[in-house]
Amino acid sequence: KQEWPAAIMTETEVVTYVKEAFGFFNKDARLVCKEIGDGNLNYVFRVHDEESKQSLIVKQAGPVSRLSDEFVVSPDRNRIETDILRLQGKLAPGFVPKVYHYDRDKNCVVMEDLSDFTILRTALLNRQQFPQLAEHLSTFLVETLVSTSDLVLDHKAKKELVKSYTNPELCEITEDLVYTEPFFPHPRNDVFQGTKSFVEKEIWGDRQLALETAKLKFQFLTNAQALLHGDLHTGSIFVTSLETKVIDPEFAFYGPAGYDIGNIIANFIFAYTNSVYTSEGEEAFQDYLLHTIETLVDQFRKKFITAFQEKTTERVAHYEGFLEHYLQSVLEDAVAVVGLELCRRIIGIAKVVDLTSIADSQARSEAEIACLTLGKTFILNRSDYQTGHGIVEAIRGVG
Ligand code: ADP
Ligand code: MG
Ligand code: MG
Ligand code: MG
Repeated sequence: KQEWPAAIMTETEVVTYVKEAFGFFNKDARLVCKEIGDGNLNYVFRVHDEESKQSLIVKQAGPVSRLSDEFVVSPDRNRIETDILRLQGKLAPGFVPKVYHYDRDKNCVVMEDLSDFTILRTALLNRQQFPQLAEHLSTFLVETLVSTSDLVLDHKAKKELVKSYTNPELCEITEDLVYTEPFFPHPRNDVFQGTKSFVEKEIWGDRQLALETAKLKFQFLTNAQALLHGDLHTGSIFVTSLETKVIDPEFAFYGPAGYDIGNIIANFIFAYTNSVYTSEGEEAFQDYLLHTIETLVDQFRKKFITAFQEKTTERVAHYEGFLEHYLQSVLEDAVAVVGLELCRRIIGIAKVVDLTSIADSQARSEAEIACLTLGKTFILNRSDYQTGHGIVEAIRGVG
């Protein structure tokens, strides 16, 4: 076993590394390297050859987060990210970047350069529409979730996967930042001034809400249902008008199958909220977002049912009523995660630019309170929303 940590490479060292240790480019190629990471945890280098136009990405994990050395996270997350990208590339071909190389000593993965794509969060803030997005994401989710679950896998093989991807440190970040800290006055929270009294009364002052978050936290801790992406917000999705690619699966682990779709929906709601509270006359764009949420949920349901029926090997899962029971609980978990994510991005330490960029402080507080109100409803009444229509009606009711 190696000694942690391996030093973060400089741009110059990355050039040498890809030329010598990896050999993707010609030996005499004149390479340009730039660190382009914008996330909280890792370093992302883009290397390209001006002449041949070839390029690639080197993503390196250090021993602590970029945000603060308070978060010590094992660079083993880079091994997990690599494995998961490879696995997802098999289960859902075309929906993740190609992996070229993994280096366990340097804790880096070398992968396909997607610089022609745009990060979905940015694209949505620029009011771009992607008609195939819900189709793509529902396919990606169903293909990666059903095939990694006990529905399909031999249970002993599945347990081996659970062991390979326990991911305790990154899970702890989620357990703390999503399921715990936002729901009481934890010192790491960071609430916008105008939103504070609402949070104190309606979130921190609500005992029923606290109880429900406790139940949900234990569900996240113990329900090893499917291999999740674990960090599937709109900053982990790359888009063009034709294609969708999911990146950054370093939080992957076996958890509740509703987690990823819930996370995506919440982040669509942040994009929607940004439009509603910063712009006039964007009804068409807002309708696009709501339609995308509705289609995502309904296509997820539909594809899930098909995959379940076609792929399930577990005999008892075919008993009458089991599919309905299973899907009902997945969607219930998803709706709860929508609620948790809506709250934690406002109350907790990790913000989304969709809300923090609302310049008018009155509008920002109103936007945040609308999201919190919706979040609370979804957590408390999570079993009441089983269709895309139901979820979208709830969003409209608040916005
Ligand atoms: P982190 O784990 O630190 O959040 P990400 O994997 O999300 O890192 O990457 C951070 C940023 O680096 C992305 O928002 C994107 O701009 C860029 N990036 C990551 N992977 C690629 C890629 N394969 N091609 C092009 N750019 C990428
Ligand atoms: Mg990221
Ligand atoms: Mg990030
Ligand atoms: Mg990441």
